[in-house]
Amino acid sequence: MALAPRRGGICPRCGAPHALPILPDSPCGHCLASPPPWAAFRMHGLYEGTLRQLVMRVKFAEDHAAARLLGGLLATACIGLPRPDGVVPVPLHPERLRRRGCNQCLELARLPAAALGAPLRPGWLSRVVPTRPQTGLSRQERRRNLRGAFAAHPDVRGRRILLVDDICTTGTTLARAVDCLLRAGAEAVDCAVAARTPAHPDRRG
Ligand SMILES: [Zn+2]
Repeated sequence: MALAPRRGGICPRCGAPHALPILPDSPCGHCLASPPPWAAFRMHGLYEGTLRQLVMRVKFAEDHAAARLLGGLLATACIGLPRPDGVVPVPLHPERLRRRGCNQCLELARLPAAALGAPLRPGWLSRVVPTRPQTGLSRQERRRNLRGAFAAHPDVRGRRILLVDDICTTGTTLARAVDCLLRAGAEAVDCAVAARTPAHPDRRG
């Protein structure tokens, strides 16, 4: 089934798929070389086929039915995670939020928050620097592009947080956001993403 979750052959730290789903889960080279700052990582599936279309409908067409469907899949992916003190969507910069009308990650975070019995806390993380889209940038450029992009609310101190994003490509956005929350005193941050791109752009060719 096109929307079925990817169940095997992934890196458990960042969701990067190995060549075949039948391979055992094992850390990818990136995570071995520099372990990501989050505690647990959950994803529904790979950003391709029907899942890709669904994510794009949520992101660009404000399709609320698609957002509920995707949020439900994400909630299932989060089963077994420690109950967080707050569920935080990856924020948009206020300018982009105005242009778009809503933050698709906030819509996606609603069902995982309800399933885990945790409050939504979109105010715990904000985007303070407008950044250009990450698409087409190398890992290093992505890192530079996001320097100082996020600010955390002081209330995150001592809290366990679940951070929700729609698509994860290299994990740079998540890593920057998690770093910001941890620097502000968060106890631990878990990450949940609806879809993971099949390959790191800077691994191709
Ligand atoms: Zn990895």
